Parts: sequence; C-alpha cells; structure tokens
Amino acid sequence: MVFAFAIILGLWLFQIVFLNNYYENIKQQNILQAAEKISEIYTNRAFSEREKIVQIEQVSAQYDLFANIINMETGQVSSYSPMQGLKFSIGFWGDSLVYSHMKFIQSVAEEIEASENGRYLKLDNDRDGGKYILGQIMGSGKNQAVLVASTRLQPLDDTLMILSNQLIYVAVILLGAALVAALFIADKISRPLEDITRKAEKLSAGNYDVRFEKGRYAEIDQLAHTLNYATQGLQQVEKLRTELIANVSHDLKTPLTMIKAYAEMIRDISGNNEEKRNKHLNVIVEESDRMAALVQDLLDVSKLQAGVVEYHPMPFDVAGLVENVRRRFDGVCLQKGFCIRTSVNRPCRAIGDVSKLQQVLYNLLSNAVNYSGDSRNIDVTVEAKDGKVRIAIRDYGEGISQEDLPYIWDRYYKVDKNHERAVVGTGIGLSIVKSVLELHQAEYGVDSVLGQGSTFWFTLKEAADD
Ligand code: ADP
Repeated sequence: MVFAFAIILGLWLFQIVFLNNYYENIKQQNILQAAEKISEIYTNRAFSEREKIVQIEQVSAQYDLFANIINMETGQVSSYSPMQGLKFSIGFWGDSLVYSHMKFIQSVAEEIEASENGRYLKLDNDRDGGKYILGQIMGSGKNQAVLVASTRLQPLDDTLMILSNQLIYVAVILLGAALVAALFIADKISRPLEDITRKAEKLSAGNYDVRFEKGRYAEIDQLAHTLNYATQGLQQVEKLRTELIANVSHDLKTPLTMIKAYAEMIRDISGNNEEKRNKHLNVIVEESDRMAALVQDLLDVSKLQAGVVEYHPMPFDVAGLVENVRRRFDGVCLQKGFCIRTSVNRPCRAIGDVSKLQQVLYNLLSNAVNYSGDSRNIDVTVEAKDGKVRIAIRDYGEGISQEDLPYIWDRYYKVDKNHERAVVGTGIGLSIVKSVLELHQAEYGVDSVLGQGSTFWFTLKEAADD
C-alpha cells in the first residue's frame, strides 16, 4: 500500500504540480534551440536565399515558432509563420505589411540593445496562456539582422483537469490492486511464514514433535523441508544424548561398583594377605583403566568433532602399528580364547598420525572382539598396492543389518543396547574412527553380512621410499 501511495504521489507531483514548470522549461529550450538553428542557417554563406527561406520555414514549423528577420541594412523584413498556407512573407520596414508588427519588433529591438549579450528572452503571460519572446542579433556587416521570434504556450488548465481526473481513477485502481496484492501476499507468504516462526519457537523451546507445513511457494516449501529435516536431526541428537547418558552412567557404574567392592574386600578381608591383596588391587587397577579409557574416549570424540585436535602425519611402519595394537589384546585372547591373526603382503610404510591411527585400530579390534559371537577368530590384513595401504579387520561374528549400516558411524549409536561386551564400549568408538579417518582424508568403509561377520577397512597413502 505504501508503495502504491508513493507511485500516486510521484504521479501527482510530476503530472500536476510541476507540469507547468516542466512545460515552460521545454518551450524555453525549444525557442533557444530554434534561434540557434535559424542563426546558423541565416549566416551560412553556402546557402542561397531560396534555400535559407525553405530551411527557416522548416524550423519555424518544427518548433511552432513565429519568426521575423529584419535586415538592418536594407530594412527588409522576412516573416515566417508555423501556420499552413502563410509560411513566408516578405516586406520592408514601414510597409503596411509589417506595420502591425512594427511596435512589437521595435520594443524587442530596444530590449536587445539593453541586454548585454545581444539576446533577449522573456515569458510574456497573457490571458491565453502566454508566449515566449526571443530577440537576437544575427550576422554582421551588411548581413546583420535582428531575429524576433515568439512561440505560444498552450493553456494547460484543461490538460491539468483531465490529468487530475485520470489520477483519481489511477489512484483508486492502484490502491485497490495494492490491497488485493497485500491480502494475497499475506495469505500466500506471510501466514505460512508466521506459522513456521511459531513452530520454530516451539522447537527452540525443546518441543521436537512440531511438523512444519508446506506453503504454496517453492521457497517456503524448501524452508519447511529444511526445518523438518533439522527437527529430525535434533530429535535424533536428543535421543542419542539420552542414550549416551544412560550408557555412560551404566559403563561408569560397573567399574565403580567393582572398585568399591574390591577396596572393601582389601579393607575387611585380604588386607594382611599379600597374595590376595595384590590380586584384588590388580582388579581395582584394571577397572580404573577401563574408566580412564572410557573418559578418554569421550574427551577424544568431543575434541575431534569440535575440530580442535592436532594432526601430525608422518611415515610409519604399518606392520609395527598393527603388532603394537594387537599386543594390547593379548590379555583378552588368553582369557577368553580370541585369536587375532595378522597378515601383511609386504613390508610397507604409510603416512598418518600414528597415535590417532592406533586408536582407530584399537577401536576396530575392540568391536571385532565384542561382536565376534562364538567364532573367536579375527583377521587383520595389510595390503600395500599402487601407492596405497589397505588395512582390514575381519570378524566372523554377528554382522550388521543393512538398515543399521549407515548409522553405525554416528555418535552414540548402538545397534543392540544391551550387548554384552568383552571390552568396554560407549557407542562412540566408530565415531572416533570416522573423525580420525576423515582427518586423514582416508577412504574407509564396512562390508557386513548379518550372521556372517563384518570387515571394517580403511586405506592410507603409502610413504614413498627414500
Ligand atoms: P560400541 O561401543 O557400541 O561398540 P561403536 O561406535 O564402536 O560403539 O559401534 C557402534 C555400533 O556399531 C555398535 O553398537 C554395534 O552395534 C555396531 N558394530 C560396530 N562394529 C561391529 C562389528 N564388528 N560387528 C557387528 N556390529 C558392529
């Protein structure tokens, strides 16, 4: 509506208020231009008298101009009129033909003389709307002449009245159209947006059940779609967060209970029996290690995902890394009968951050151990080929279903919440693996068949031999 008002105001200013000034201005420009042209034609020696007359007649018609050229030497008066039929007439100063003009021409001639630059221009207002009068000296010597020209200003009253009338119609139509457009926009755009805003406020207050409705415009559809997507993400995060708290508290509680129980046993029973005491103390140390590892995992994943970890890639011996990590599972292998077999197709060095890759391998081996089921065999293969080193960890356990596969890399995701693990698990092991491998820009993936086992693999760049 404001826009429509602005347009109407603009029309009113230009078409009605300033119309007169604008018209006068144009007329003034025109008469000056015409005088310029006539002067050029008149003083141009290349033209014959006849040519001059024809050309000045044209100028007079074109600019709606009455022009008198009075030769100072001969007293000849050439009159031009824009009216059809009597375009040109000629006479002499004092003739009856020019007698009626004489007083007028005389007065203009006096004004020219009084002026500084040999030119006189005046707006003469009369009852019929007025006229512009121009007087100018042209040429020199024998050819010197005075140009006295005038052009009528049409009375604008009628025009103004018509325009005002029209403007009223235009205003009514424009404001009506603006109103319709405003209602239309409010209905099609503003209302859905308000609805979306209201729901977004609910969302920010923690209500993840809101559903954003589509509007009638592609952009609003897009926005609603994006917000629905964000809501789903938030729902997921919220769910995972609650699960994490449950998992972590459970996983922390178990070792704590053990530590407390064994500490009490030492206090009350085995305090004086060195052998038993040491056994119990070992359990306490192991359980504390489990807790420390769990807390470390949580810290690592937050740092990795916040992007604040330092990354120091350098060449390292892959077989050495595998062996190093495998050794950490010796205890589990001995106690629970797991068998971790490693094979390397040829000695090779890869580029990466060793300490972080150790963690990747450790997490993948932990998972292989945890999800091995009854088959306790695990294969770790290292294959160096075409400047790349592929490391794969294969277990023959329960495998992962196709629908779970895309989610296992997500933080806190666990397929089976109550899985009994041989190694402590928080549901963030694979999330750490993913972050570290992405830091290395490594390719990684998993091939898994439910009931037959899984192969987790990643490839690193092979270090060039120096
Ligand atoms: P968790 O601490 O639960 O092992 P991870 O992030 O390491 O957490 O793994 C996420 C989920 O992926 C696991 O809960 C498990 O369901 C599945 N998973 C990971 N590795 C394997 C595997 N080798 N075999 C079967 N399932 C696996």
